[in-house]
Amino acid sequence: MSTYGIDLGTTYSCIARLDANGNPEVIRNNEDNSNTLASVVFFENQNNVIVGQAAKENIETDSDRVVQFVKREIGKPTSRTYTFDGKTYTPVEISALILARLKNIVESQGGTIDNVVITVPAYFGLEERSATKQAGELAGMNVLSLINEPTAAALSYCARQFQEDRTILVYDLGGGTFDVTVVKMSMTPSDNGGDVQKITVLATGGDDHLGGKDWDDKLFNYILSACCDENGLSADDIEAETRQDIRSKVEEAKRKLSQKETTKVRIDVNGSRTEVVITRKDFERLTADKVAQTMNFVDSTLAKVPDASIDTVLLVGGSTYMPMIKNAVEEKFPGKVQQHDPDQAVAKGAAIYASMLGLAVEGLETGEAPSGAEQPSEDKRAELAAKFSVEDQTPRSFGPGVVDTKGTKNKYILENFIKIGEKMPAVATKTYYPIEDNQERVRLRAFENMSTEDAIIPSVDEDGNPQATDPAHCVKLLGELIVNLPPNTPKTTKIQVTFKVDASGVHVEAINMATNDKFETFLRTASDVDVDKSNVHQLRISSD
Ligand code: ADP
Ligand code: MG
Repeated sequence: MSTYGIDLGTTYSCIARLDANGNPEVIRNNEDNSNTLASVVFFENQNNVIVGQAAKENIETDSDRVVQFVKREIGKPTSRTYTFDGKTYTPVEISALILARLKNIVESQGGTIDNVVITVPAYFGLEERSATKQAGELAGMNVLSLINEPTAAALSYCARQFQEDRTILVYDLGGGTFDVTVVKMSMTPSDNGGDVQKITVLATGGDDHLGGKDWDDKLFNYILSACCDENGLSADDIEAETRQDIRSKVEEAKRKLSQKETTKVRIDVNGSRTEVVITRKDFERLTADKVAQTMNFVDSTLAKVPDASIDTVLLVGGSTYMPMIKNAVEEKFPGKVQQHDPDQAVAKGAAIYASMLGLAVEGLETGEAPSGAEQPSEDKRAELAAKFSVEDQTPRSFGPGVVDTKGTKNKYILENFIKIGEKMPAVATKTYYPIEDNQERVRLRAFENMSTEDAIIPSVDEDGNPQATDPAHCVKLLGELIVNLPPNTPKTTKIQVTFKVDASGVHVEAINMATNDKFETFLRTASDVDVDKSNVHQLRISSD
């Protein structure tokens, strides 16, 4: 049994495991001579699909055959599909290709993958999570669990050094996304007498369209306009090959500027060689607004936890290699900034978590120690499992849509049984009633949303039903449970509704208190929901 942790990133992915001493190590992507794998897929032709750096080289010249940033699409209601050579791929399938490539990297070095933990942003809802898990399964992996990226980063940080209770701000600036998370690490007594370090997410914020790509774009435009000036051309005169030449050099130039004060790029501008010199100062001036944008998100996230006092700021994500980031964060949090393997910390944390979980699974399945010397002994992993406990929080608010019959007009509201940020597993119960006497059935709809209110009034369609998605509160219909009522059920009959949310989904249960009939469903995703348009079969809040 081999257990791995995977950071399935928007722009770069990474796979790690624990070595025989229980230390996390990243499996190197030798083909690209890198610790990470570019999350880019190039559909060259029917028989050849390329993932990684080689796919990236085709972004400008074959843009219609290259798929990138697919993580932004996964599990989204408007998820688009991609068709190449007559075959259509969903974002889940594209993600599976990236995961399969990671698997292939491990296998090409003689390893095998049995169990994995895949990381997801803390703000991912149920569907994004379930789609990520599905992608892992499609790639032939047994997905033990998912873990929030900032939690994984904090786990790899506290595995490095013993820490007392701390509040950590994880500043994760990747390639396409910026995530700010406040996590709390606390020592709490465990069931078996010792102490465990508990990691809890307190607040999340950020922007899923802000990342290293924006820095690349600024540099791209800078170099492009320098090339135009030098050759007396306008941007429209620049050929696609030249653009690809600039595009492929931009990221490297950016990385060099993290090390050096000045760098040079040589571009073949429509056949004539042009040299562009960029200084770090110029680059910082070009992108200062982007840095400021990230700091605004830091402020708005901190505002969600006014009582938290930050002890440590963890810099995570490849873009935090840029000195301007470290400087800006250091200026705001003097002496508190920590940075270790920013582009690998998430995968390493996932590997630690996977190993902790894998132990339990393997114990159950085989009762045997992991095979081979490649992975840590059972004792080592038991030690880890005893040291940490990861407490995740609900990524969304969850609850049923019910009708408030008080007043003159029926109002459809979503009651948030379980609110965003509650400790998981979270359970809540409430009693409702049929809308009218002799109602034959109840359609109990379950929703998720981003509101912290007890109840919200969602946007409704012309039939008065909530829209399947409501961007204002990120309302999303997860599914529905049909509760059949016996003949002659009076409208005063109590229907007890329970929601239970854990890492794998939402369990909804309804009990007719008059008959004790129980109805239940387990919702992971909304993709197959067939929604009845009629409003009659719902539940109402009050008994009068
Ligand atoms: P993801 O967003 O997919 O989680 P990463 O955290 O690995 O990915 O971040 C990738 C981003 O980090 C890319 O934009 C990449 O160009 C950038 N990056 C990586 N190394 C450096 C570096 N040394 N200097 C500047 N940017 C870097
Ligand atoms: Mg990342």
